[in-house]
Amino acid sequence: MSANVPDVSVVVPVRDEVESLPLLMEAIASTLSENQISYEIICVDDGSTDGSAEFLKAQAQVRSDLKAVILRRNYGQTAAMSAGFNYAVGKAVITLDADLQNDPADIPMLLAKLDEGYDLVSGWRQNRQDGAVNRLLPSKIANWLIRRTTSVYIHDYGCSLKAYRAELVADMHLYGELHRFLPALAYIEGARITEMPVRHHARRFGRSKYGISRTFRVLMDLLTILFMKKFLTRPMHVFGLLGLTSMVLGAGLGIYLTFIKLAMGVMIGNRPLLILAVLLFVTGVQLFCFGLLAELLMRTYHESQGRPIYRVREVVTKDVS
Ligand code: UDP
Ligand code: MG
Repeated sequence: MSANVPDVSVVVPVRDEVESLPLLMEAIASTLSENQISYEIICVDDGSTDGSAEFLKAQAQVRSDLKAVILRRNYGQTAAMSAGFNYAVGKAVITLDADLQNDPADIPMLLAKLDEGYDLVSGWRQNRQDGAVNRLLPSKIANWLIRRTTSVYIHDYGCSLKAYRAELVADMHLYGELHRFLPALAYIEGARITEMPVRHHARRFGRSKYGISRTFRVLMDLLTILFMKKFLTRPMHVFGLLGLTSMVLGAGLGIYLTFIKLAMGVMIGNRPLLILAVLLFVTGVQLFCFGLLAELLMRTYHESQGRPIYRVREVVTKDVS
């Protein structure tokens, strides 16, 4: 256990949570030191207006276990978490909410599970303490949808309390509000994923930053993830196939119409089928070309960032020294 690489970095996005912060830091510090786990707390202030930033800055001057990262304005929870990941140096990373809804006392248990060989351990709020209609119901539906579409079989994607192996975090790139889909992103990166029941408490201070409108955004994000998972490295497989099918159908109808016009002298100018044939053919060509463009984009995407299309878990060779 070296002095500058802690066992765990605890990443906390903070927006207007000034009442909770002292209790939260105390809870994290006491659980982790009781369990002899070396740690750093990274609080990312996401444009708070209630004095959270000032409090964090003052604390970071006196506490050696705290890094305060202050964002210029409010960017949203995903960006705040991403900033926290960038400053984390620990061997593992824990994320949790600042509002004390997650219980820091669960951290050692999650870390122990990571040590069993998992790359990501996700919390499962079995007794979630939030409103039934506006929170629990949409969340149930969203979880079901995400489970079906991403093939990562965990119960509670929305739980912020999660533990990651540091290498995994370095490979994941967050955009928009994708923090809810971290397990799905991790799955794309080839991670071993599991879940564990964790405690959950009702909010004690302040109020939730989200309302019902989040449901819609989650659905859109779900489509993005689905696309990334299936076609990130082979867009031509989807667009090419759709385009070709459409072109073949259009061409088939066109040939049929030409045939009855030339051989039987039937008028085809007023046939709806003619419009359909043209539409299918043109759409087909467009989809096909779009697939080719997407292939080019994907190559740029991977190569410009030096991102390989695979992830290595480990490399084993015979030592020849
Ligand atoms: N949060 C943030 N930026 C935002 C919104 C929220 O950093 O724009 C933080 C917030 O301070 C909290 C966590 O994200 O630590 C989860 O937010 P909240 O508790 O409001 O969500 P809920 O638990 O109601 O889903
Ligand atoms: Mg909360």
